[in-house]
Amino acid sequence: MDKYDVIVIGAGPAGYIAAIRCAQLGLRTACVDNRLGKQGEPVLGGTCLNVGCIPSKALLESSALYEKVRDGAALHGIVAGELSHDVAAMIAGKDRVVQELTGGIETLFRSNGVDWLRGSGQLLPGPQVRVTGHDGAAQTLAAANVILASGSAPMDIEAAPLQGDRIVDSTGALDWTEVPPRLGIIGAGVIGLELGSVWRRLGSAVTLLEAQDVFLSMADRQIGRAALAVFRNQGLDIRLGALVKHTAVDNDMVRVEYEVEEGVQTLEFDRLIVAVGRRPYTHGLAAAEAGLLLDEGGFIHVDDDCCTNLPGVYAIGDAVRGPMLAHKGSKEGVVVAERIAGQQSEVNYDTIASVIYTQPEIAWVGKTEEALKTAGNPCRSGVFPFAASGRARAMQETDGMVKLLSDEDTDEVLGVHIIGTAASELIATAVMAMEFAGSSEDIARTVFAHPTLSEGIHEAALAVDERALHISHKRRR
Ligand code: FAD
Ligand code: AMP
Repeated sequence: MDKYDVIVIGAGPAGYIAAIRCAQLGLRTACVDNRLGKQGEPVLGGTCLNVGCIPSKALLESSALYEKVRDGAALHGIVAGELSHDVAAMIAGKDRVVQELTGGIETLFRSNGVDWLRGSGQLLPGPQVRVTGHDGAAQTLAAANVILASGSAPMDIEAAPLQGDRIVDSTGALDWTEVPPRLGIIGAGVIGLELGSVWRRLGSAVTLLEAQDVFLSMADRQIGRAALAVFRNQGLDIRLGALVKHTAVDNDMVRVEYEVEEGVQTLEFDRLIVAVGRRPYTHGLAAAEAGLLLDEGGFIHVDDDCCTNLPGVYAIGDAVRGPMLAHKGSKEGVVVAERIAGQQSEVNYDTIASVIYTQPEIAWVGKTEEALKTAGNPCRSGVFPFAASGRARAMQETDGMVKLLSDEDTDEVLGVHIIGTAASELIATAVMAMEFAGSSEDIARTVFAHPTLSEGIHEAALAVDERALHISHKRRR
């Protein structure tokens, strides 16, 4: 029987990165994936490249550019003339980006010597892996190590079963070639807000129905409040404390019943997106006799080092505990590969950044002020609004702020929370500072280029000690 050093099941950002790193380390590696692309062809890259991070960012970029030209050009003295959009061309552009990137992984597999096995992988005792090709032909392969990276799938709810192109999940909402005049979204989380922003910019009247009373409950409250005000001002109709109970498609209209404090309300939409979160995907992943342990919620059970309950079997990415983020899964992939190769390697889960790619963007790393309070960890806070940033003013992008939290005793940076243009890029500075256990004083003493948005991080660090230079602090005597 053919024996590999490592077989990876799943070629998303967790699995394909694990496979490449294993191959770089000299391990004989195969990666199994059963995903088919839009033309029915086997594709690499998983959710992230095919129906997640990349296509959503492509559409966010295109729609933001359209809105910027429409609403922002005049502020820069640019006369844009009559403007229109071609949504079908936008979707085709997005598909090209996806194809280029998934093709790029194929090239990387080839150059690194990773065998791409097209089909479904199933863990058997041993460990062995049964690979069933798209034509139904099956083979069994032995491996010294197996890495499970089967990812996640959109969560569905009984109140809103998917229906054709009327009630869709995030995947369906990435392929509409016409703008729905009235768009409803269940869930005002990351995916709901990003997709809502895309279609609002292109002309939809967007309503988001969110069961929770608090907007973006996982974010720092101050940032969440600022975000809610900005998004509502942009025209997103965000209804909080609104639990969707029932949906029905009637004459091409989607009727949605939702419960708020005042009682049951009804709304009609042309299309509805169900964006209520994602669940681990492990269907058919392990034969019963393999004895793979799952956690409550269906996640593959792992310890801190991504080891499952079975010797030589690891699990990474969305299929295991922790934030469902591509870079978290990729890091786990690298760490597991390096540990298999006998190296010391670990994931620092405290410095995994979260990003929402709206405009303004929202990004954070570390603890929120509320979490620190609950943990009884006294902290100091420095806030700097982008309205006081020269670069933000020159860009006519003054919404938002940087908020930096540091430990009251040691001054170590414990959290950085940003809402503003390019927050997704700015947060890397904070991640680096925290990775090096930096203090607000370290950042305060660093010279940032002028004029840049990153000066906002410098000023927020100065503000911790009430010495930001471009905002007024109370005078100290
Ligand atoms: P996946 O990417 O889900 O890949 C798993 C792969 O394994 C899939 O191709 C699947 O078909 C395959 N597979 C499963 N079971 C088997 C089997 N038995 N045999 C063979 N193959 C199998 N994250 C970010 O960090 N940033 C973002 O901006 C972002 N945006 C997103 C936008 C949207 C609309 C969505 C839906 C998600 C977004 N995410 C984002 C989340 C991100 O896509 C996931 O966190 C990431 O893809 C998880 O990677 P993974 O490798 O664990 O799993
Ligand atoms: P996320 O986990 O970031 O993708 O966000 C999904 C959001 O959907 C969460 O904030 C949930 O509170 C919300 N949600 C889940 N079920 C419902 C429902 N039936 N009605 C309204 N919102 C919901």
